[in-house]
Amino acid sequence: MSILVVGSVAFDTVETPSGKRERALGGSATFFSFSASFFHPVNLVAVVGEDFPKENFGLLSSHGIDTRGLKVLPGKTFHWQGSYSNDMNEATTHSTCLNVFEQFRPEIIEEYRGSEYVFLANIDPDLQMEVLRQIKKPKLVACDTMNFWIEGKREALLRLFKMVDIVVLNEGEARQLTGQPNLMRAARMIRNWGPEQVVIKKGEHGALLFGADSVFISPAYPMETIVDPTGAGDTFAGGFMGYLAREGKADWKTMRRAVVYGSVMASFNVEDFSLDRMKTLSKPEINARYREFVEFAHFA
Ligand code: AMP
Repeated sequence: MSILVVGSVAFDTVETPSGKRERALGGSATFFSFSASFFHPVNLVAVVGEDFPKENFGLLSSHGIDTRGLKVLPGKTFHWQGSYSNDMNEATTHSTCLNVFEQFRPEIIEEYRGSEYVFLANIDPDLQMEVLRQIKKPKLVACDTMNFWIEGKREALLRLFKMVDIVVLNEGEARQLTGQPNLMRAARMIRNWGPEQVVIKKGEHGALLFGADSVFISPAYPMETIVDPTGAGDTFAGGFMGYLAREGKADWKTMRRAVVYGSVMASFNVEDFSLDRMKTLSKPEINARYREFVEFAHFA
């Protein structure tokens, strides 16, 4: 059974200390799908404008991503502009042009309604909820969000949290959402709003998984140069959900491994702009880096 993802498919204009890319392929659902598809087939639900190049459909399909749910509407594709300075963990947003997302009403095609694994990537929480209502009986639902929606749609977001199993967000978002500087307390607050598990990503410092009475700490891959961190969070989520879907279970041990696979995938994505590194990535490279993680995080 495929993973269903809804989120943004975008053009990103990004500037980092390594350079600048204009209108490169990006978006939360794009990064998620590409990463998850290394583990399991993915059904993509999103919208683009008429300016979206046809080759991008081919690129996604060639990677096992079903694009029947990727709608083309009259108008322009979502465009995000951001930059990173020395702190690569935090993007500064310069503009968010929702464009075709403003009139997007997701309709899930019949073939996708039975999806067991659902990832609600970063988009308007009302749209995330609209998608979830159309899925018959999901086994596992996870969601992400960002400061833009925490500021503008907090109530909708909290309603959504009641309907999901896992919330995945970065440390800045966890603090902004809860008003709690301490991440243990922030995670407990979020879990009290509904989700069974919370994953808090800490960029170059790894990720934390919180369950009912356990915490798991995953390191990040030690890297000297991060070319572009855009999409790292979505790529992490893709590895995490992709692994869970492939294994077909979500017990604590499997979740811990899934967090490490998420970290592995994110570490590749930041090696280049847009999807450039992911396009050349191979499964043996993923497995080799996973073994490195096991090696450098192991102690008796
Ligand atoms: P991240 O994984 O957090 O680095 O996500 C980066 C991606 O999020 C970029 O490719 C953007 O196109 C996308 N994005 C930025 N702002 C928004 C937004 N408000 N809603 C949906 N997607 C967004």
